[in-house]
Amino acid sequence: MTLYKIQKSSQKVSIGKIICLVRSYLSHAAEMSTPVTKHPLFFLKPTSSIIFHNQSILIPNLSHDIQHEVELGIVMGKQCRHIDKKDALDYVFGYLVAIDITARDIQQEAKQHGWPWSIAKGFDTFCPISSIVLKKNILNPHDLNLSLKVNGKLRQFGSTSQLIFPVQSIISYISKIMTLKKGDLILTGTPEGVQSLKEGDCLEAELEGYCYLKVFVQKKSI
Ligand code: MG
Repeated sequence: MTLYKIQKSSQKVSIGKIICLVRSYLSHAAEMSTPVTKHPLFFLKPTSSIIFHNQSILIPNLSHDIQHEVELGIVMGKQCRHIDKKDALDYVFGYLVAIDITARDIQQEAKQHGWPWSIAKGFDTFCPISSIVLKKNILNPHDLNLSLKVNGKLRQFGSTSQLIFPVQSIISYISKIMTLKKGDLILTGTPEGVQSLKEGDCLEAELEGYCYLKVFVQKKSI
């Protein structure tokens, strides 16, 4: 069982399933040359991919191109199923900043063949997350700045005001497919600027004013 780190709280919340949206910012959909869909599209990442502040992303031997995707994460606070948009925020525990690490070469091959993305997205260490900021401290989840620096240089910047699907719609839609439980994590997709990483890189992700996450890149030793 892996527990979240929670700002200014001694609560213990274990990390549940990780649901990751794709194509949720127009700018990123354009850079990947992929059309936007009517409803949110998503895939699942395993809990074993989680790492925390000051830990390292390990480049797997199977990939030659791992890339960063900085994302707003929504942590669920209560179990829910089939909920209305208007009630969706009542079920949120808090927010965090995450990096959806992607083996882009494996993903491109999967896209060409219509294969699932679990390998490209699911390696150990492929989901760095910050501590959680409690919901009560974020008045509007659609007015947050997200940024990612690599070795001190800005690579990604976006505002959650640019999300194609609002947080309430995302939660409501997912809850019509699978029960959401306390501790489940929804990664809401990335703005433009995804790029490759190499051994020795230092990544700094921010949910401006709320969450800060620093992780490193290492080559896997086995
Ligand atoms: Mg992503």
